[in-house]
Amino acid sequence: MIRIFASLFFAMAMTSFAAVPFVTVPWNGHRAAVSFTFDDGLASQPQNLKPILDTMPEAHVTFFMAGASYLQQDVKGFAALANAGHEIGSHSYSHQKLDTIADFAELEKEVIGSASDIESMLAAEGANITVTAFATPFCAKNDDVISMIDKRYFLNRNCGWHGRVNWSTTSDVFNLWAKGWDRSMETAESMCASLDTAAVMVDTASMESWLRPGPEGSWLVVLTHGVADDDVNLSASPKDMEAMIRHALENDMWVTTFSSAGAYYLAHFTLDTVSAVKSDSRYTLQWEMPHSNMPKSIPVKVILNAEFLAETGWSSDASVVLEQGEELLWPDEQNRYTLEFAKKSVVVREATQAEIAGRDSSKTDDDDGGDEEKKLDDDGEGDSKKDVDDDNGKKPKKEEEQAILPRSLPTGLGLPKQYFDLKGRTISPSNKSRIIRVQR
Ligand SMILES: [Zn+2]
Repeated sequence: MIRIFASLFFAMAMTSFAAVPFVTVPWNGHRAAVSFTFDDGLASQPQNLKPILDTMPEAHVTFFMAGASYLQQDVKGFAALANAGHEIGSHSYSHQKLDTIADFAELEKEVIGSASDIESMLAAEGANITVTAFATPFCAKNDDVISMIDKRYFLNRNCGWHGRVNWSTTSDVFNLWAKGWDRSMETAESMCASLDTAAVMVDTASMESWLRPGPEGSWLVVLTHGVADDDVNLSASPKDMEAMIRHALENDMWVTTFSSAGAYYLAHFTLDTVSAVKSDSRYTLQWEMPHSNMPKSIPVKVILNAEFLAETGWSSDASVVLEQGEELLWPDEQNRYTLEFAKKSVVVREATQAEIAGRDSSKTDDDDGGDEEKKLDDDGEGDSKKDVDDDNGKKPKKEEEQAILPRSLPTGLGLPKQYFDLKGRTISPSNKSRIIRVQR
């Protein structure tokens, strides 16, 4: 009896579930995320928006093509946008109300065939992309439409309402709201206010949340059509579009594609609930992809959990390393590691002295290449942009930004007991000073 108990105890100890080793950093280390989406594949988008986007290389946006005929208006322009890191999604084959299509093959062509068309047309112009997101024309859909979308994409954009997604709350990713922008409905000021609201929201579900600034921000999806100084195609003016994107960047929002933000958002629910299995002082985490049609690469920033460090006695400086296959991942200056979610496993362990020495010598030679955003930073922009870009490792850190590790982080599936922002400051829900003003 004692032997049985002892072996059971031993078995439990072998696979002991420790404190969660790390948690995902919200919105890739930014206070909030925004995805600007542009519908229908209008020629004014590459013509008038691309020159603006080219001046802001850290901003990435999404274009939803409505069929080959639209894309044909400027396929070279959209290929150039794709090669600059912007997303091309599908907005169906012929821009019909998809919920009125009864024929399966026709619906399949609209939803699935459109993605293949877009991919082959762009490939012919030198842009090799995989379409991963869909946007329903007129937001018309039913269960058949959604299940068809689910076969080929991992994300679908709906339209209307406030367009925000809360970091900590699961959402129906095949029915994501988008805040519509056109000059007849919104002013540039009101759209900048929407950006500011996204940056301070905690809980998008309740009215009360309007009064509660929070550290996690939310993800705002913006829906736009033409980009031109005319009233055709619900256009937004290039000047206003530029002001909005710049406003988002200056307020430390992650200006990223619909699929990148959606994949990061989905990934964190998986990563933050997976259990670590301990063996020989190595903690192994394994997970499945939440959806089979996600992007091929999903870089996710994580930070070691204070309780995990306390339990292991490991330190939060660069002596802990994450291992994915052959690759060793080291923390950045804010103790954040960027792991590849699509690799579906990671090991957390102490680095050997040789590894630390090897890392230090390679660091003096060259950057370790672990921070994929660094190469996007050398845009020659003004100082104001550099100040808000906390991914730029060369920026001197203010003292208050040094203490990044929060005292308390989630130990299970629940939410953090104590909120913290990504510059290391503890946030109280009554801290109104974080509400940003519209700067115009
Ligand atoms: Zn449309």
